[in-house]
Amino acid sequence: MVQEEFEKRGNLKNKNINKSVFANKVICGDCGSVYTTKTWHSTSKYKRIIFQCSNKYKNKVRCSTPHFYEVELKEITLNAINDLIKDKDSIIENCNLIIKQSSTKR
Ligand SMILES: [Zn+2]
Repeated sequence: MVQEEFEKRGNLKNKNINKSVFANKVICGDCGSVYTTKTWHSTSKYKRIIFQCSNKYKNKVRCSTPHFYEVELKEITLNAINDLIKDKDSIIENCNLIIKQSSTKR
């Protein structure tokens, strides 16, 4: 699995695309394809990088899922994580304890 991950990352690096943590992790709810980045107005000062379904315009029926800016994905992800870990204070406390213990062992 580790080897597979290295190869995957190596391939991404070769293509020099999708450096965002969200690249290939967001799945389109309509067709199941991954979201990839797309650059809008690449030659002007209004250049924006958006995420959208990689097959949005390739499918017969166009996907109705929206595009996102990275800042929106960050906010959505953060909210979802915060919802999942309601008890995050004790998790952070435990993490700090582990960090403290592992640093005193050295
Ligand atoms: Zn789609």
